[in-house]
Amino acid sequence: MENPVKGTHDIIGSEALLYTEIEERCKSIAAIFGYEEIRTPILEHTPLFLRSVGESSDIVHKEMYTFDDKGGRSVTLRPEMTAGVMRSIVSNKLYVEADLPMKYFYLGPCFRYERPQAGRYRQFHQFGVECVGAPSAYLDADVINLGYHCFNSIRVPVKVKINSLGDEESRNNYRAALKEYFAKYIDQMCDDCKRRYEINPLRILDCKVPEDIEIVIGAPKLRDYLTDSAKEYLNLVISILESFNIEAEIDDNLVRGLDYYTGIVFEYHAKPIEGLAEVGALGGGGHYAHLLKDVGGPDYEGVGMSLGLERLFHVFNHFNHDLPDTFGLDFYIMPMDAKFVGDCAVLMNQLRYAGMMTDMSFEAKSFKSQFKAATKKKAKFAIIVGEDEWKNGEFTVKNLSSQIQTKVRGEEIVNSLRTMLQEYYEQIELKYFEEHGNE
Ligand code: AMP
Repeated sequence: MENPVKGTHDIIGSEALLYTEIEERCKSIAAIFGYEEIRTPILEHTPLFLRSVGESSDIVHKEMYTFDDKGGRSVTLRPEMTAGVMRSIVSNKLYVEADLPMKYFYLGPCFRYERPQAGRYRQFHQFGVECVGAPSAYLDADVINLGYHCFNSIRVPVKVKINSLGDEESRNNYRAALKEYFAKYIDQMCDDCKRRYEINPLRILDCKVPEDIEIVIGAPKLRDYLTDSAKEYLNLVISILESFNIEAEIDDNLVRGLDYYTGIVFEYHAKPIEGLAEVGALGGGGHYAHLLKDVGGPDYEGVGMSLGLERLFHVFNHFNHDLPDTFGLDFYIMPMDAKFVGDCAVLMNQLRYAGMMTDMSFEAKSFKSQFKAATKKKAKFAIIVGEDEWKNGEFTVKNLSSQIQTKVRGEEIVNSLRTMLQEYYEQIELKYFEEHGNE
């Protein structure tokens, strides 16, 4: 009872602040790229995922949190966000008045009943975007670029892997070739592969069973079945990315675990670094030609990508990067006597209303213990209110990193503290960019 549900985790303190920082950066990049936020429910009707993510996917087959609600309707905790966004476009008829492409970004928790391990949770968080209604190699590249930019902005170096699932004709030919190849082996392969063989043999390429991987190695390669126009499209996306200084490497076995992808698919992987445990793709996405139609909307193509915040955080932590150190309180007020507590509370309120993160001790504890509290709360400044300050109508303000103390007149306190804080932030920002450059 006292433990969280297996595969879920609490995000607390400085970790929560870092998540917020990463989320804010991703959101602001999405806004810069012209995306609007969309928030869809965590619960959706189960058939939505059957129709979109697809019955041949591991997600639908084994990993969904599906249950009947009290009205006997089958509902599912979303295992990914794209399906919900498509459903929302249809439910709200967003396509009727929209300028195409419709561009939405999202952020929130997803649920998959997977075996927990490094970078794999049962509740995790995705940030992502969907760009629907104007198929173009430029938009495919733009979405890849957006995700790449998110990783860059928190200085996690990634490699982009890309592939094409081809057009309808390429995929049909390839499926037939795979069926022919695997027919000789399917009896000795795992039960999942037997199921995949019947529903979607492409999924077999994703199998992680070592004996099956041996067989997969000899399977026909998708690239040999791509039509000329599918090859040209892939090369165009790669060359657009190159023009943005993004190197994308073709990976023949990249097929992605969701059934709705057609055409371009891609993933972001952390560059291999000693000591960094492999956590799988940090993010991925692709082009989908029929998804919106499959959930009841118009026949618009789209492209999307999503990043897993837990995996991003894991890699970020490995680098031990320090984002500009802006965490913690701005001010901690320390009354040295119980009779100052009321006035200190008024000052705290003024500072908070002026937008400065402030807290205080409501007990006039010893100087030492109040300093300890200020340090624990990562306050930038302590404001000391003792007998002398009281008599002289001033406050002692101590910078807790430089230990320099300043006297500030009571009547100017809010403005003086605001200026002090601004200078503090300017200095750490300057120091940060001196150390790291404007990455
Ligand atoms: P997918 O929707 O499977 O393409 O996954 C997109 C991204 O979500 C992955 O690249 C991961 O970063 C993240 N992700 C997927 N499944 C999990 C999981 N079980 N735990 C943590 N992150 C996940």
